[in-house]
Amino acid sequence: MLKNSYDVVIVGGGPSGLFTSSLLSKQGLSVALFDKESAIGDNVVCSGVVSKEAFSRYNFPGSAIVGSLKEAVLHSPSGNNIDYEHPEEDVVVVNRKLFDSELGKSAVQNGTSIFNNSKVISIKNTKEYAEVKIKAKDEIKTVRAALIVIATGVSFNLQNSLGMGRPKNILKGIQAEIKAPEVKKLNLFWGNKFSDGFFSWGIPLSNGNLKIGVMTKDNPIDCFNYTLKKLGKEKLSYSDSLKINRRGISFGQIKKNYSNRVVAVGEAAGLIKTTTGGGIYYGLISAEIASGLITEAFKEKRFDEKFLSKYQKLINNSFSKEIKFGEFFHKFYSKLNDYQINQLFDAAKEDQILDFISESGKFDWHKDAVLKIFKSPNLRNVLIKEFLRQSTRKFAINV
Ligand SMILES: Cc1cc2nc3c(=O)[nH]c(=O)nc-3n(C[C@H](O)[C@H](O)[C@H](O)COP(=O)(O)OP(=O)(O)OC[C@H]3O[C@@H](n4cnc5c(N)ncnc54)[C@H](O)[C@@H]3O)c2cc1C
Repeated sequence: MLKNSYDVVIVGGGPSGLFTSSLLSKQGLSVALFDKESAIGDNVVCSGVVSKEAFSRYNFPGSAIVGSLKEAVLHSPSGNNIDYEHPEEDVVVVNRKLFDSELGKSAVQNGTSIFNNSKVISIKNTKEYAEVKIKAKDEIKTVRAALIVIATGVSFNLQNSLGMGRPKNILKGIQAEIKAPEVKKLNLFWGNKFSDGFFSWGIPLSNGNLKIGVMTKDNPIDCFNYTLKKLGKEKLSYSDSLKINRRGISFGQIKKNYSNRVVAVGEAAGLIKTTTGGGIYYGLISAEIASGLITEAFKEKRFDEKFLSKYQKLINNSFSKEIKFGEFFHKFYSKLNDYQINQLFDAAKEDQILDFISESGKFDWHKDAVLKIFKSPNLRNVLIKEFLRQSTRKFAINV
């Protein structure tokens, strides 16, 4: 039964919104969560790659896991590929529908009321209360709360209407699942035909299926077809018979992740790894940070902008360096042509860089691993040469 008011209203039932609602309900707050889809996990487009670190940090059950990744082939544009084996299986693949449903079940067990088929179309935040307008079927309903959490994923209308802004860029994501039991390793592809500025992938699942996807600034279909071709599946090229899902991916944080009586979590705040586009774990961490501060806000009865601005500081302390580093790295990488990407691969191979990454690289935190790469002589030389070329070019354009 929908009530007229709650302590907290959460807009969006992906991992970030569901986990926030679960943690807040556990604290004894009354929480309502609204999602526009007809069931939790419907219409999700995601490869579901998550580190084991995330699972153990939050003690999630493993029932949504459908694969684990240890071996990978990293494809260069020229085909001078690198085989990689990680010492442990520290990355798993989850079925997102199942993963989200389980988070939903645990939120309900903790006391959250979940309402599906309920699209929040506006937020009003006054000094005394906050209010959402919800479109449920053909009815418009209004619900009040002391505080609202925006967890709408890659959708920024509500944040924009409150002056919180939107990410610098929205990238294009595309994915399909096909039968390919012969592919046993994770395949990652770099080069201008695979992605405009990022990469494409093929992720094997334990049922013999393969998730093929692309994250790119432009031309997602051409990149997708090229990836299929490289995986020996060109006959399946973009067609009506292949169920292809498309979705945007945020790139860069929004201007302000709080407002009077409002905070944004997960991708709705632009909290995405700018190196890989992964957003599940960052979303969960932001949910943990937000729910801690919201609990404090209820104790102190402070829902004003000044109090909630602490959230931005806490988020910046946790993610800002990683996200900004990824943006910087991307700016550099996106200017490389295939010849230069091949040079990087050749140098990485000579330096046996992957042995080094397997010792020190963490799946969710990339800044330190990439900075340490500068200790590898060949790779460092290629990177410095390219960096100087780009800087000189920029200087020449500006003078
Ligand atoms: C092709 C592709 C592959 C990806 N692969 C990975 C991966 O392997 N690993 C990884 O970590 N990340 C991956 N991502 C990113 C990941 O899917 C997202 O970062 C993650 O889902 C963000 O979680 P969230 O809870 O913040 O938002 P979402 O999961 O997007 O949830 C937002 C929810 O809000 C609801 N909603 C939106 N607007 C409204 C509204 N106005 N009213 C009510 N409800 C609303 C939506 O229905 C949705 O349920 C991938 C993305 C793409 C596109």
